[in-house]
Amino acid sequence: MLQVKNISFSYNQTPVLKDISFSAKQGEHISIIGESGSGKSTLLKVLYGEYDLNKGTIFWDDKEILGPKFNLVIGYDFMKYVAQEFDLMPFVSVEENIGKFLSNFFPEEKQLRVAELLDVVELTDFAKTKVKTLSGGQKQRVALARAIAKQPEIILLDEPFSHIDNFKKQSLRRSLFKYLKEKNITCIVATHDKNDVLGYADNILVLNHSKIVANSSPEQLFNNPKTPLIASFFEEFNMINHQIVYAHQLKVIEDSSIKVRVKNSYFKGHNYLIEADFNGESIFFYSKENISIDNKVCLQIIT
Ligand code: ADP
Ligand code: MG
Repeated sequence: MLQVKNISFSYNQTPVLKDISFSAKQGEHISIIGESGSGKSTLLKVLYGEYDLNKGTIFWDDKEILGPKFNLVIGYDFMKYVAQEFDLMPFVSVEENIGKFLSNFFPEEKQLRVAELLDVVELTDFAKTKVKTLSGGQKQRVALARAIAKQPEIILLDEPFSHIDNFKKQSLRRSLFKYLKEKNITCIVATHDKNDVLGYADNILVLNHSKIVANSSPEQLFNNPKTPLIASFFEEFNMINHQIVYAHQLKVIEDSSIKVRVKNSYFKGHNYLIEADFNGESIFFYSKENISIDNKVCLQIIT
């Protein structure tokens, strides 16, 4: 179990993490979300022991995670970390990169393991390809496979699918997260993409202004977003009478007190996102049918 207690950290004089506490059980999937610059990457690096804390403690079971002042070689056997900028061996093949940390003592086992990992990250066809010639997304997949090769107890992933194109992203995400759950590997994922979170995370930590401002399940956070920042992570939303109302909670009806004039319409696939004017402010809602600009409609809040 990971236990983070009252940690604070600053780069030089600027505090980036203030009084952060949370825990993660074995096999749990925790998402860390927050705007760019909110400290997500820094928190992962601190958890990995890359920096010395100003205050607080980090424990994995009974082992304390210490920074470079107290631990000569950064990192621990039980923990793997995949950074936003991954470092691979460019001039050797994908399979050699993935097998880098695996023992050569049992070559057949090693080969089977590498084949399994290639399958998890969907790179079987590229086993013999030199990493140098791969795309950014393919390299990211090699880095992910290498991190899970020796089956860590906990893995820290920083924007793990950011370089991967939409065609591959969905299936890779399912495959990797399913694998981690099956093997009971704790994972802490920093992301700004709700698709990395919904359907996978057991808990979400929201970072804002150096602090954790929310720590709840995806359902709780989605159904009861306490702040506009949290709502904006999930969906388009509106403030109506100081209340957060998601775009999907508005419905066109015959008559109501919310009378709006359509300003823009965006095709979203299975519906249209409509931007309309409501007393001089923009209001967003979804509609099955497209609505022409300047049309006037009435909206109802459905909860
Ligand atoms: P995120 O991953 O959420 O985008 P970061 O953890 O990368 O946020 O950055 C948090 C804050 O710390 C930012 O203001 C950033 O500019 C600053 N920062 C990040 N890395 C360093 C560093 N090595 N030295 C000094 N400041 C840094
Ligand atoms: Mg980051």
